[in-house]
Amino acid sequence: MAVSDHVDFPTFMEGVKRRNPGQTEFVQAVQEVAQDIFDFISDKEEYHEAQILRRIAEPDRVISFRVCWEDDNHNIRVQRGWRVQNNNAIGPYKGGIRFHPSVTESVLKFLAFEQTFKNSLTGLPMGGGKGGANFNPRGKSDSEVMRFCQSFVNELYRHIGPDTDVPAGDIGVGGREIGYMFGQYKRLTNRWEGVLTGKGEEYGGSQMRPEATGYGAVYFLQNMLRHQKNDVDRKTAVISGSGNVATHAAEKIIQLGGKVLTLSDSGGFIHDPDGIDQEKIDWVKELKSVKRGRISEYADHFTGATFHKGKRPWNVPCDVALPCATQNELNEDEAKKLVSNGVIAVSEGANMPTTLEGVHVFHEAKIIYGPGKEANAGGVAVSGLEMSQNSGRISWNHGKLGEMLTDLMEGIHGKCVEYGDQGDGYVDYVKGANIAGFKKVADAMLAFGVV
Ligand code: NDP
Repeated sequence: MAVSDHVDFPTFMEGVKRRNPGQTEFVQAVQEVAQDIFDFISDKEEYHEAQILRRIAEPDRVISFRVCWEDDNHNIRVQRGWRVQNNNAIGPYKGGIRFHPSVTESVLKFLAFEQTFKNSLTGLPMGGGKGGANFNPRGKSDSEVMRFCQSFVNELYRHIGPDTDVPAGDIGVGGREIGYMFGQYKRLTNRWEGVLTGKGEEYGGSQMRPEATGYGAVYFLQNMLRHQKNDVDRKTAVISGSGNVATHAAEKIIQLGGKVLTLSDSGGFIHDPDGIDQEKIDWVKELKSVKRGRISEYADHFTGATFHKGKRPWNVPCDVALPCATQNELNEDEAKKLVSNGVIAVSEGANMPTTLEGVHVFHEAKIIYGPGKEANAGGVAVSGLEMSQNSGRISWNHGKLGEMLTDLMEGIHGKCVEYGDQGDGYVDYVKGANIAGFKKVADAMLAFGVV
């Protein structure tokens, strides 16, 4: 007789906390998923007998390594790098690389865990992983960033490969960093292969990849609103962040007839009551990704706009909110403020930007709430399409990829409604995504037996 893991939810979470001391982000992510899965599998003995939930909450492996590099003043610097390979039941590990001083093993384990369900939801054959380093690219010269990326890949290259693990960009890792890392991988292995996504179009990158996450988050918003017979047109939007995801989300909101009021960075937010139009977005893209400037400069440049130092934008009244900066950037009080100011929908471009308490506020108030796991899955979906194009030695055009992205986001929305519909017209998208994402991975794991 097999031993069942029929423990109750608090006992299960006690075990997760005990095995991962001090890893609050990871524990938070597991808790958010596990509570929905517990209900779903309560009458499904096969998952219990195979200890599927316990196995999914334990990464396949966590690789941690030293990254030494020399700065422009010839000081030797030492950083820590990681790659978390969470689960490859349905395809090669896939997930971004983050360079930010806040990166820890806990943050990367949470991101790799979430990525597993997100990738499953896309319907494409991709497992879940995440990596990064506690390196801050801000204020570093191009040569310093290059030396760091090369040193990072000197260790990472032996753990990745087009059929093993395919990293991509994330916070602090954009086209420049991917280029340096791909170049070093190619030099070390003497192979040109699709080992990273988010590459430049000149060397195997996919069209639509830069836009995919932000556009996808807005397509997801559009699907959620349509489900309630509503639309993006003429809605006011509050957006946080001013990086890749935020600027492309802003762009798509405008294209669909909405008005964007805010953008932010870790220094504060700007509020532009006239609306941030395409010309202003292009200016921000140049400011952040080429000049590496601060969002505060926006208020010096555009009249009518104000900069709010050290503040987040959630007090600004709006119809829709898109957190597109980082994790835990929207707390319970801020969620309450959004609700009292009349927000109707929230679509997360970032990963886990709303705290568990904040999510609870949205659910209580029956606000349409699309978590990052599904709302920002457009990025990894087009990364999956970049892998297909690299394997097939082909490249698809912008129009075709745009259609594929729209279809993928509609497909993800449909799956979430299937498992998240509460029967009274309200859709619990968190539950829908958790169950739909889990089921595919869990069924694949069952097929493999105990491995
Ligand atoms: P970028 O590095 O391009 O931009 C990140 C933005 O968030 C910057 O404006 C940055 O400001 C701001 N930010 C970072 N940390 C903080 C903080 N602690 N407080 C306030 N603002 C902060 O990253 P992306 O746009 O690529 O990623 C944004 C989010 O989207 C992340 O959660 C990422 O995991 C998620 N995501 C990204 C995908 C992609 O395709 N790029 C795919 C799926 C999810 P500053 O300049 O001050 O650092």
